[in-house]
Amino acid sequence: MGSRAGPAAPRADPAYNPAVTESSCPFCRIVSGEAAATVLHRDEVVIAFRDIAPRAPTHILLAPCRHVSSVLELGDGDGPLLARLFGVAADLARSEGIAENGFRIVANTGPWSGQSVGHLHFHLLGGRSLGWPPG
Ligand code: 5GP
Ligand code: ZN
Repeated sequence: MGSRAGPAAPRADPAYNPAVTESSCPFCRIVSGEAAATVLHRDEVVIAFRDIAPRAPTHILLAPCRHVSSVLELGDGDGPLLARLFGVAADLARSEGIAENGFRIVANTGPWSGQSVGHLHFHLLGGRSLGWPPG
């Protein structure tokens, strides 16, 4: 298990430098209010805010308020968190007017995915036709 060699991940890729500590984590700073963001939803477990560099007419990030590095850190106990997060995403899709035409929810995970912030987040993308498969 885990010993089979796959293609080496591009760990030297300068674009892959996710924050790993809460003090330096840009999304923890948004949760705490130290950093500004256009926050659309906030409760005790989930925050949703507009992406600073939108890739689609609607581009919202949904994240747990507590620092979780990625999908790989989730466990069985995170069911309620994920249910809330996807419920909020669906509500926002409706309020943004993208529910009918369709949208995408994606969590980049690890260097080959392009994950750039090491605080779990789901992109909610919509408002235009989205290509498949993603690049
Ligand atoms: P990833 O590349 O990790 O999948 O997604 C990170 C996303 O966070 C990117 O789309 C990027 O534009 C966005 N982002 C990075 N820093 C900030 C920030 O300080 N504020 C906001 N609102 N978005 C950010
Ligand atoms: Zn964080």
